[in-house]
Amino acid sequence: MDYNAIIFDLDGTLVDHTTAARTAARIWAHELGFDGDQTSRWFEIERRWFAAYERGDVSHPEQRRGRTREFTGDGTLSDSSCDELFGRFLTLYREAWCAFPDAAPALHRALATGARVGILTNSVTEIQSAKLRYTGLDLPGVHLLASGDLGVAKPRPECYAKALSILDVPADRAVMIGDNYENDVAAPRRAGMSAFWLNRDGAPAIDGDPGATSLDAIPF
Ligand SMILES: [Mg+2]
Repeated sequence: MDYNAIIFDLDGTLVDHTTAARTAARIWAHELGFDGDQTSRWFEIERRWFAAYERGDVSHPEQRRGRTREFTGDGTLSDSSCDELFGRFLTLYREAWCAFPDAAPALHRALATGARVGILTNSVTEIQSAKLRYTGLDLPGVHLLASGDLGVAKPRPECYAKALSILDVPADRAVMIGDNYENDVAAPRRAGMSAFWLNRDGAPAIDGDPGATSLDAIPF
């Protein structure tokens, strides 16, 4: 199948967010004076606050501040104290960024088809463009589309509509590829796009779809 737009998710699809976040959370918790492994607690807090952001209940900066207040257990922290503390987490997170080995080959293969190539990510441009630069994935011709700029996040339908409008490609000529079944497969399909699920960990099939364990196995 020929597509006019090939759109990738970023975290968990091109870059190993989970390993980087786990490494950063471990060091940060230690620096904050916590004993023991706090990574599951951090991921649980992240999941809840990020879901609130994806629903549109809080802004992107607010979910960071909420996570910081909850993780530190200090609900009285000012916004600027939260931003400073979270900034340290981000520094550690940045130092741990790493592209999956199949990421650059997949982007090159997508570009070689002549389609428009995008990266649609639920985050802000500042951090995601740095992530692409640092991991060597900032290839010419790849458009970064961050929810922070679009004003709406996956899986809300307007998010895909805005991304497709920027790429100037109709939904039925576009394919989305990513690791989050709802955000990267189910919702894009409801929006009229094709979609492939990247199931790196071999999780159980969803709706009979086993997904692909590598970007190399995804046909576009
Ligand atoms: Mg992802």
